[in-house]
Amino acid sequence: MEDSYKHKGQRKQLIQSLRKKGIRDERVLEAMELLPRHFFLPPAFIEWAYTDKPFQIGKGQTISQPYTVAYQTELLEVKKRERVLEIGTGSGYQAAILALLGARVFTVERHAELYESARKLLRDLNFGNIRCFHRDGFNGLPEFAPYAGILVTAGANEVPPALLNQLEIGGKLVIPVGDKVQTMQRITRVAEQDYRTETFKTFRFVPFLKGLD
Ligand code: SAH
Repeated sequence: MEDSYKHKGQRKQLIQSLRKKGIRDERVLEAMELLPRHFFLPPAFIEWAYTDKPFQIGKGQTISQPYTVAYQTELLEVKKRERVLEIGTGSGYQAAILALLGARVFTVERHAELYESARKLLRDLNFGNIRCFHRDGFNGLPEFAPYAGILVTAGANEVPPALLNQLEIGGKLVIPVGDKVQTMQRITRVAEQDYRTETFKTFRFVPFLKGLD
């Protein structure tokens, strides 16, 4: 896989457009400028890698729109060396962005083939601080909890209780909640039994499905 001047130039423009759309966190923008998104797309889509669009590429897989990745990552406010859990590995792109921000990333995917291909790609790209698991994200990943941040990249009808339980005190869950359209929520665990919810814009995600595939 190759990164070229053309791709770098297209990335710069994409970052400019994200800035115009209201993304403010320079660390997030920097990570997105650094990471070649075209590595995460099937060859047929490479030409479109730096347009601000999601791609549905079968088996329920979507690589989220760059704006959505930036928006969710900004809300998570990841700091270096923090443990972050992502639900819905998909292509592996979002996990790689979190890793570039210095997080220790755990990511789970319910679909076996997607899990395999993302794990292989992230290994080939030398992302040593990302660990991939073939799991139903509805249960989170209890063996490595608690997490400073949990990021859900599929649309959930309800907030899975396991995810709330796996937050450390002060930890944040960023999750799109809703049926056809989802409202972005950020739920902070302010005390052992006390959570604070903030709501943000609406998005459309592929569904959060129960069970493995
Ligand atoms: N973060 C991804 C985008 C993922 S699209 C990226 O950067 O490319 C949402 C993903 O969530 C899909 O791959 C889907 O298979 C997965 N998913 C849906 N429900 C899930 C669940 N219960 N547990 C784990 N993964 C799930």
